[in-house]
Amino acid sequence: MLQTIPKKEDEFEIIESYFKGLTAQDGVFLGIGDDAAILDISATPKHQLVVATDTLVENIHFPSSAVSYQIAQRALCVNLSDIAAMGAIPRWFTLSLSLPRKLANNSWLKGFSSGLAEVADEFKCSLIGGDTTSGALSISITMLGEVPPGSAITRGGANDGDFIYVSGALGDGAAALSVIQGNEIKHKIDSERLLSRFYRPEPKIEFGQKLRDVASACIDISDGLVADLEHICRSSGVSANVNTSDVPIKDDVRSQWGGNCVKWALFGGDDYHLCFTVPEHLTEIVDSWSADGLSDLKKIGRMTRCNDGVPQVFLDGAAVVQQNKGFDHFGG
Ligand code: ADP
Ligand code: MG
Repeated sequence: MLQTIPKKEDEFEIIESYFKGLTAQDGVFLGIGDDAAILDISATPKHQLVVATDTLVENIHFPSSAVSYQIAQRALCVNLSDIAAMGAIPRWFTLSLSLPRKLANNSWLKGFSSGLAEVADEFKCSLIGGDTTSGALSISITMLGEVPPGSAITRGGANDGDFIYVSGALGDGAAALSVIQGNEIKHKIDSERLLSRFYRPEPKIEFGQKLRDVASACIDISDGLVADLEHICRSSGVSANVNTSDVPIKDDVRSQWGGNCVKWALFGGDDYHLCFTVPEHLTEIVDSWSADGLSDLKKIGRMTRCNDGVPQVFLDGAAVVQQNKGFDHFGG
């Protein structure tokens, strides 16, 4: 390694003081401290390993106003969300941290490590290693999870006629960004709820596992419903039609932002709900869940045959205009 923070002993001290404590014993034969970790995967020998990585860069995936506790929670939650979308159980993760020298202090690192510990504890996954370097602030996490063989839900299993669902209200992520960016708020709104949706999105771990028995395809909504549903379309070779009036949006977001919020729910990112498809004969099961406490779980459309050309998303029967698809996070 060429660069450390600021010299090798301090890097070791950081790892020792802030990260070593996050290794739980479950399945960890050898944790942080050696050249590599050793995992005991013999406890569930028939399971498949599921691996996902996500990197968060300052000013792209979180604003520079974010505190270290929030950054850590968001980094771990978005990685857990990928594991949830596969219907997998999270087990272990590694952390690659690039840290500016000015942040290599007790208060920043303590906040970061406690944010990480809280989420790791809740979802029963442990930190098993990583890398610490000096540089622009960026956090890369690789999450390892497991599933019974062949039971993971991919993006590629949707069929013509399957119904499309989302696990909860959309548009919160984009609304939270608007609050973070200091845009005017006219009505009373629970900005605390929105900020927590942004910094600590709820990974749908248990719900994802429940979907293994019913969903033909699944994805977590990080880039926006239309963009992510399009991934299902392309991988599955079928198109999708969304009834926009069925897309769930929280009342406070709707009354605050009016017309904007529908656009946010369709094209805004950072919601981390699951979008999944269900064959018609299994929809009764899913519909019974929404009566059963999952109130924002909603059927929003149906997969359709792709006649010619590329599989794509239609909104109320109309093809989506290309320039509407992207979503600009923090400008730049
Ligand atoms: P090496 O130079 O052999 O790669 P390092 O000095 O980078 O070793 O790391 C020493 C130990 O600390 C390794 O076990 C590594 O996995 C762990 N480690 C380094 N950085 C982190 C981090 N940010 N989080 C958790 N573990 C880390
Ligand atoms: Mg290293």
